[in-house]
Amino acid sequence: MPGDRPPRRYGGGMAAEIRPDPETGDWHIVAPGRAARPSDHAEPADGRCPFCPGNEALTPPEVLRHPAAPQPWRVRVFPNRYAVVGPAAGPAADGGARAATGAHEVVVESPRHDAELRTARPGDVLAVLAAMRDRCRALAAAGPAAIVVFRNHGVAAGTSLRHPHSQIVALDDAPPGLVRRWDNARRHFDGTGRCLHDDLAAAERAAGTRVVHDAGGVLVYQPRAAGVPHETVLLPDDRSPGLAGASDDALAAVAGVLPGVLAGLAAVRDDPAYNLVVHAGPVRDGTARDWYRWHVGLYPRLTRRAGLEIATGLSVNPAAPEQTAPELRRAVLAASTTTGP
Ligand SMILES: [Zn+2]
Repeated sequence: MPGDRPPRRYGGGMAAEIRPDPETGDWHIVAPGRAARPSDHAEPADGRCPFCPGNEALTPPEVLRHPAAPQPWRVRVFPNRYAVVGPAAGPAADGGARAATGAHEVVVESPRHDAELRTARPGDVLAVLAAMRDRCRALAAAGPAAIVVFRNHGVAAGTSLRHPHSQIVALDDAPPGLVRRWDNARRHFDGTGRCLHDDLAAAERAAGTRVVHDAGGVLVYQPRAAGVPHETVLLPDDRSPGLAGASDDALAAVAGVLPGVLAGLAAVRDDPAYNLVVHAGPVRDGTARDWYRWHVGLYPRLTRRAGLEIATGLSVNPAAPEQTAPELRRAVLAASTTTGP
């Protein structure tokens, strides 16, 4: 409820704010407190990683722990100390700005500080995905507009701590970029009666050239309109619009192939920084099941946004997915034959 709790305050005494850009219509979150988070990829000065076992007191109290105490945990989730959004606040500020509200959580994926997702066992990845699903369900109960799950790997992708972790952000208001994504899928359904992601999967299977992997209940492909080299989609056979409603089979399918895809990418491009994003439909729209299927997007950081991109919103991708997909396909295959099932 608005006003129940004070807005999250940062060092400067200023709550995070959404400020719509009057020129582009995009939103920017201005969150001065984020500047106080640990420096990029640095090891903590005193050698104590807040995500390592034994240092649990250094994080906010956990909201999920798997398995339950007294067993040693494999996955832990707690509120982000440097949240980009906070609890509901007061009335809107000036210039159309308003408090950035929602929830922001950290998912520690492994007790091992130097674990790598690309060499993780599928069972461990499944435990992480299941924890994310649990948290998405819990966060959805508060009625946010959107829930975004993502993972940053490498300094260039925005990692602030080396210990493997993902993040979940529940947003009370859906940003314009997300709304545009949903509108495109909804319009496709209204015009054709079919789910956009079903049609994309069928088109990629028919073309074949951009398919990286198609087995075990998940299609992996590099989209025709890839914005960056090796942009890759993992689309499980699942009708849920979001992770909250994902089936056990779909989580297992993604867990089974994700490490191999990341190992393949690391092999072909020298372990680049990347962002992994779970694309999901709106939380509060019961019709989304008809026209949106959750999927994972992998965005390697192999290019930099330059003047043209900033001026126009265009992406210039110097590598055609028809060329990079076969390269990744061979590397994923090689990774799966060396590591075994
Ligand atoms: Zn650690």
